[in-house]
Amino acid sequence: MKLCVACGMPMEGDGDFPLGDRSKDYCVHCARPDGSMQSYEEKAQSLAAFVARSQGLDPGQARKAAEAMMGRLPAWKAAR
Ligand SMILES: [Zn+2]
Repeated sequence: MKLCVACGMPMEGDGDFPLGDRSKDYCVHCARPDGSMQSYEEKAQSLAAFVARSQGLDPGQARKAAEAMMGRLPAWKAAR
Protein backbone atom coordinates (compact mmCIF):
# COMPACT_ATOMS: atom_id res chain seq x y z
CA MET A 1 0.00 0.00 0.00
CA LYS A 2 1.21 3.48 -0.85
CA LEU A 3 0.94 6.59 1.30
CA CYS A 4 0.33 9.87 -0.46
CA VAL A 5 3.61 11.85 -0.45
CA ALA A 6 1.72 15.13 -0.15
CA CYS A 7 -0.83 14.44 2.61
CA GLY A 8 0.04 11.02 4.08
CA MET A 9 -3.30 9.41 3.25
CA PRO A 10 -3.22 5.65 2.57
CA MET A 11 -4.09 4.95 -1.08
CA GLU A 12 -5.76 1.60 -1.58
CA GLY A 13 -8.34 1.68 -4.35
CA ASP A 14 -8.18 3.10 -7.86
CA GLY A 15 -10.47 5.89 -6.64
CA ASP A 16 -7.76 7.13 -4.26
CA PHE A 17 -5.40 7.85 -7.18
CA PRO A 18 -5.61 10.86 -9.52
CA LEU A 19 -7.55 9.74 -12.62
CA GLY A 20 -7.27 6.18 -11.27
CA ASP A 21 -3.54 6.15 -12.15
CA ARG A 22 -1.81 3.87 -9.65
CA SER A 23 1.67 4.92 -10.80
CA LYS A 24 1.16 8.29 -9.06
CA ASP A 25 2.68 8.92 -5.63
CA TYR A 26 0.01 11.39 -4.55
CA CYS A 27 -3.71 10.96 -3.95
CA VAL A 28 -6.80 12.29 -5.66
CA HIS A 29 -7.18 14.99 -2.97
CA CYS A 30 -3.72 16.36 -3.78
CA ALA A 31 -4.26 16.42 -7.54
CA ARG A 32 -5.68 19.09 -9.82
CA PRO A 33 -8.59 18.12 -12.08
CA ASP A 34 -6.08 17.33 -14.86
CA GLY A 35 -4.26 14.82 -12.62
CA SER A 36 -1.10 16.85 -11.94
CA MET A 37 0.00 17.41 -8.33
CA GLN A 38 -1.05 20.59 -6.57
CA SER A 39 1.63 23.12 -5.67
CA TYR A 40 2.76 23.69 -2.09
CA GLU A 41 0.63 26.84 -1.95
CA GLU A 42 -2.50 25.14 -3.30
CA LYS A 43 -2.16 22.27 -0.85
CA ALA A 44 -1.38 24.58 2.09
CA GLN A 45 -4.53 26.58 1.40
CA SER A 46 -6.83 23.57 1.08
CA LEU A 47 -5.31 21.89 4.13
CA ALA A 48 -5.58 25.10 6.19
CA ALA A 49 -9.26 25.38 5.22
CA PHE A 50 -9.80 21.77 6.27
CA VAL A 51 -8.00 22.26 9.60
CA ALA A 52 -9.94 25.47 10.28
CA ARG A 53 -13.23 23.63 9.71
CA SER A 54 -12.39 20.41 11.54
CA GLN A 55 -10.57 21.93 14.54
CA GLY A 56 -12.26 25.30 14.75
CA LEU A 57 -9.00 27.28 14.45
CA ASP A 58 -8.78 30.81 13.11
CA PRO A 59 -7.18 31.18 9.66
CA GLY A 60 -3.72 32.15 10.95
CA GLN A 61 -3.53 29.21 13.36
CA ALA A 62 -4.93 26.83 10.76
CA ARG A 63 -2.29 27.93 8.25
CA LYS A 64 0.52 27.30 10.78
CA ALA A 65 -0.92 23.87 11.60
CA ALA A 66 -1.21 23.00 7.91
CA GLU A 67 2.41 24.00 7.24
CA ALA A 68 3.60 21.96 10.22
CA MET A 69 1.74 18.89 8.93
CA MET A 70 3.08 19.35 5.42
CA GLY A 71 6.65 19.79 6.66
CA ARG A 72 6.65 16.14 7.75
CA LEU A 73 5.60 14.79 4.35
CA PRO A 74 8.09 13.70 1.65
CA ALA A 75 6.59 15.79 -1.15
CA TRP A 76 7.31 19.07 0.65
CA LYS A 77 10.62 18.44 2.43
CA ALA A 78 12.57 19.66 -0.57
CA ALA A 79 10.39 22.78 -0.82
CA ARG A 80 11.30 24.00 2.64
ZN1 LIG B 1 -2.81 13.36 -0.76
